[in-house]
Formats: sequence, structure tokens, C-alpha cells
Amino acid sequence: MDKIITTSWDDGHPLDFRIAELLDKYDLKGTFYIPKKNPQNTVMSETDMAQLHHKFEIGGHTLNHVNLKKLDNSNLVHEINGSYCWLNEVTGVKPISFCPPFGAYNAASLKIIYLAGFKVIRTTQLLSPDLLLPVNYTTLQLFNHSSYTYAKHLLIRGRVTDFKLWLYSGATSDMLNLIDYYLNYIDMNGGCFHLWGHSWEIEKFNLWKQLEIVFKHLSNRSEYSYMENGQLSNHIKHQNVNINNPNQ
Ligand SMILES: [Zn+2]
Repeated sequence: MDKIITTSWDDGHPLDFRIAELLDKYDLKGTFYIPKKNPQNTVMSETDMAQLHHKFEIGGHTLNHVNLKKLDNSNLVHEINGSYCWLNEVTGVKPISFCPPFGAYNAASLKIIYLAGFKVIRTTQLLSPDLLLPVNYTTLQLFNHSSYTYAKHLLIRGRVTDFKLWLYSGATSDMLNLIDYYLNYIDMNGGCFHLWGHSWEIEKFNLWKQLEIVFKHLSNRSEYSYMENGQLSNHIKHQNVNINNPNQ
């Protein structure tokens, strides 16, 4: 029974190095999803990416941080295959993981992501303790969402089972309570605790102290395997998400 803790960090902002330092300090693993350009935010240089890659996995996040649901087929191929080739050039290895910007994807984009050579797709879906194919959900974002937002997030996407599971937590929105609740579930059933976030958002909302508390809380659990997102592909056991009708 796999018990996994993984983390991922989107957008390649230079402050990602602060996250990398903290991951290192608490012996946690993580994947950084980096676009080549981001009209909304600063992106670190390719030299910095190569340096970050010495210790951490770097995954695809398109070339221009675009919404995949708004692209036609040829632009999907350009953004996704382009991201694969660019990361291969910058890091010297074939990338494994991909994260669609804004959590936006559809069946056409999922097929192109897998055809490009990526093996793990991470979404922005929250409050899942399971490993899923063809898209990976997450458990917690390093952001203080309200209980109302969590409920809306799950129900709009028709995730009734995950909604019920979250209700049993007392519908909590407290990060440490959520961590304890989902780790307790994974202790009994196996699964994957997936923390994700954005360094620019942590800066904007002054969440660095909270990030360190969360990292400390997740660290040093001997019964857990700590891994990068790319390693999840070897542990995925369920296939209950249909690629032709991906839940969003
Ligand atoms: Zn992004």
C-alpha cells in the first residue's frame, strides 16, 4: 500500500528558490512547473532553471502560460510539444510531468500532452488523497481557501465522493487540520498527499511562515515515500478518470 507525499510549484517565479531551500531544509521532494514566458508574472532565467534542476524535477507548463481549452489543435501541439523540447534543451533530460496552466484542460489537450511524451499530468483539483489517471489531482494548495470555496470547488466538478470525504473532516478549511485529516485517511487506505502552490502567491499573501509550518508538519514521516511528481507514474493504481470525459 503506497503512502506518498509529493509537492509541486507552478510558474517558475524567481522566488521558487526560496521554496526550493525550504524543501531542502525539510527533506521534501518537489516538482517545479515552468513556462518559457508568462504574461502574468516574472519567470526565472534558463540558467537558474538548470541550477534548480540539479536538485528538483522541472515539469512542463506550456511555452506561454496559456489556457489549453482556448487553443486549436496546431496551437496545442506548439505549446505542449514546444514545452517538452524546450525543457529537454534547458535541463538535458526528457521531462516527465506536465501541468496545464489555470487548471484548464480537455480531452484533446490531454491526448497531446501524453503524445508529446509527458507521463504525469497534474491538475489544480484539490482535496484528493488518491493517485489517479490520466490526470493527477492534488490535496492541498498553500493558500487559505474558505470552506465555501472548497465546497464549491468539489461540487461544481461533480466530485461527490471527495465532497463527502471532506465533509467528514468537519468541512474544515484549516491547513494543518486538512493535512492531519488526509494523512490519516492515507494511513488507513494508502494514497498520495499532494501539496502545491505558487511562490509569487505565497509572497503576495505573506504565507512564508505558514509554508514552513506546513513543510515541517509534512516532514520526517518514516512510513511515507517522499517523491517528485514524475515518480508518481510508477505508483498510479486507479484508472477511474476517463480521458474522453475528464472531470474538471
Ligand atoms: Zn501557472
